Amino acid sequence: ALDTNWVSSWISAAAEAVTEHKGELNTLDREIGDGDHGENMDRGLRASVDALAKLPGDATPSAALRSIAMTLISTVGGASGPLYGTAFLKAAEPVGDAETIDAETLVALLAAARDGIVSRGKAEPGDKTMIDAWTPAVEAASAALAAGADPAAVLSAAADAAEKGSDATIPLVARKGRASYLGERSAGHRDPGAQSTALILRAAAGAAG
Ligand code: ADP
Ligand code: MG
Ligand code: MG
Repeated sequence: ALDTNWVSSWISAAAEAVTEHKGELNTLDREIGDGDHGENMDRGLRASVDALAKLPGDATPSAALRSIAMTLISTVGGASGPLYGTAFLKAAEPVGDAETIDAETLVALLAAARDGIVSRGKAEPGDKTMIDAWTPAVEAASAALAAGADPAAVLSAAADAAEKGSDATIPLVARKGRASYLGERSAGHRDPGAQSTALILRAAAGAAG
């Protein structure tokens, strides 16, 4: 089962991955947006690592998830700040006051995160947004759970699906966010938010295994 240390290791690994890929995320966003997605996520995840370090030693996983949410909302800015913030805020709900997260709760956590992004941003699958990584990730996580996977295997299935989902945004025409201003010209470029989602979910899997 996954505990508060997993949440901390996850976010540290996500911050490292985003720092490493910051230039690439900025470039993707420069092609179909305003070029700041790597910068935004790097700032927000580093601030989240700092916020988690200040939590009391007995903080629950849901308290850690809420702390990440508030930090992302206040530091990331742009479209993605409130979207990722809502994702982590909603992710805390199915966890409740449990000390550990089992495979079933983990799938509920991922689904709640995705649903939070949808309710906030109103994107549908195929709109060329981070939802195109989150939705296949939730579906793969749920299938893995049904097949008896443990939390680490659920997360690695989710990360694999998010990476494929990010790849699949390349030919799409954007219908939400800044990239939608380009219309047909947004096709042929990967969505930066789908790519940051793939990095974040891969970090979650790495921290669990
Ligand atoms: P901004 O566009 O304000 O500069 P970012 O560059 O940080 O914000 O984030 C852009 C990403 O946000 C996009 O690549 C896309 O994945 C995501 N995004 C934008 N609008 C929406 C939306 N309505 N629903 C889901 N995701 C969205
Ligand atoms: Mg941007
Ligand atoms: Mg911006």
